[in-house]
Amino acid sequence: MLDLLSFHLDHRKADIPPNSNIDRGSIRSALWSGEWADRLSSSRLLENIYLVAVGLRRASFFHPLDEREVLLVRGAAEKVGVGMAVRKAGGRVLKVYLYGEGGEAVTKVPDVDESLGRMEFITAQIALANMTGQLMEYPSCCVSSFVGHLMNGSDQDEKATSSLRSISNPSPDAYFLERFVPCSPNCRNAERMGRQLGSLLTEISPDLGDTYSSLKLEHMEEVRSGRILKEKRERDSLISDGVP
Ligand SMILES: [Zn+2]
Repeated sequence: MLDLLSFHLDHRKADIPPNSNIDRGSIRSALWSGEWADRLSSSRLLENIYLVAVGLRRASFFHPLDEREVLLVRGAAEKVGVGMAVRKAGGRVLKVYLYGEGGEAVTKVPDVDESLGRMEFITAQIALANMTGQLMEYPSCCVSSFVGHLMNGSDQDEKATSSLRSISNPSPDAYFLERFVPCSPNCRNAERMGRQLGSLLTEISPDLGDTYSSLKLEHMEEVRSGRILKEKRERDSLISDGVP
């Protein structure tokens, strides 16, 4: 088992390959019983691990709360045969990629941080956004919109919050994954993905379908409340506090 100190010294030690010899029938009970269910959020369990483990998505990624969460997810992923790759996306920012069969390309994601120099760091972020969008099979309109914001230096989250607040009947289906921001609150491509995943999960089990519906609603409310913006400002002030 990987301990916190070894991981802290070298985050790539957390990488594990997928294992296709897992009995798919046992995946759900392995994730929703015991320690994982108590310690990981529904979004981690369902969207990041389960969907990849059963082959409904070939890869997923998330920004961990802390290093402990990475190690917990690693334990759960290993248990259900999901591969994991941890990469640096900034001096203090880690991204965790989970993948199954066909998703091995995520291991090619490089480590980047601000020591590259400002322009190079921004260029790397743009390249990575394109790469991640493709690997995660996000709608191309939403990826282009995100990349456009990066290139213009405008804030996508700010725009997402204000456009969501300005419409009266948005569809939670467009907010089909945690932290995924559709190009517009009524992006048809994003809505379609949310609906499709919802019906596939409901076919497996109505309970999973219900959990997923409430997650989509939560993701939409998170964008509407501007919580992501607030967190981002807190993180930015933390980073700038740390710079002499
Ligand atoms: Zn879109």
